[in-house]
Amino acid sequence: MTAPLLRLDGVSKHYATRPSLLGRVLPNQPMVRAVQDVSLSIAPGEILGLVGESGSGKSTLGRVALLLEPPTSGTVAFDGANPASDLHAFRRRAQMVFQDPASSLNRSLTIERILDSPLSVHRFGNRAERRVRIAELLELVGLRPEMARRYPHELSGGQRQRVGIARALAIEPAFIVLDEPTSALDVSIQAQVANLLVELQQRLSLTYLFISHDLRLVRWLCDRIAVMYLGRIVEIGPAETLWNAPLHPYTRALLNAVTAEDLRPPEAAGDVPSPIRPPPGCAFHPRCPMAGPRCAQHAPRATTTTDGVTTACHLHDGGVA
Ligand code: SF4
Repeated sequence: MTAPLLRLDGVSKHYATRPSLLGRVLPNQPMVRAVQDVSLSIAPGEILGLVGESGSGKSTLGRVALLLEPPTSGTVAFDGANPASDLHAFRRRAQMVFQDPASSLNRSLTIERILDSPLSVHRFGNRAERRVRIAELLELVGLRPEMARRYPHELSGGQRQRVGIARALAIEPAFIVLDEPTSALDVSIQAQVANLLVELQQRLSLTYLFISHDLRLVRWLCDRIAVMYLGRIVEIGPAETLWNAPLHPYTRALLNAVTAEDLRPPEAAGDVPSPIRPPPGCAFHPRCPMAGPRCAQHAPRATTTTDGVTTACHLHDGGVA
């Protein structure tokens, strides 16, 4: 079995609801449990899709995977080592593409200066060599080199996102977290950017963590899909298997809602509970159409099927709900 490129072991991320003036967390202060005890790994060259409703913890998990925020507990390993021991080297190999290119690109800088920034930080060549690299990057993402002289507001949304992708690729990373990279774009442009991401992944042998609420896109683009609910991974497995035969009631509800505009599962009644006080037992039980007496008391343990799908639900852990 191939050694994972990225591995998360028991990763949690909690935030204080009201940090004190000195940023300290006080005893008994309520905490937002944005990510809870997540373990997963991504193999080199793999695309793992991460789906779930808004507020499920997807983006937080992506930022923690890149150590843009430190985990509250648990460990992040990259290429078998602790990336925190040399963050500068880790940043060379692991990058992020943000959802909204309009806000993630500095409006006061030209595209050339935006793309020059990561190259300068990581001491890539001299000025002339960096100019050549910037032209290469623009061509790589399907933009003309003369775009380097423009400002972000002079570009379309799709072109800005291409610049965001070029910036992430500038220092030749191995791993990229893509946080809803197409959702801020016009529908007509989304497919073009998605095609570009696939082409780049194959051409440059990249590994992606692809965060999205678009299940159709995730199915098309990803090798495996992980489903998040209230900070936890409730199901993870090969994309086609999970799409055709989801086991967890939450995954089933998401797939049934796939034609809806947003990701509110019609079979899952009520609102998502507060991550400050997640329900006891299975956190999905207040909304689950299949919930039984055990579900409110005992957290289900994750079990893996012969098809390689791991799910956390009492209907599949050998007991009864
Ligand atoms: Fe539903 Fe119970 Fe399974 Fe949770 S453990 S998803 S409440 S059946």
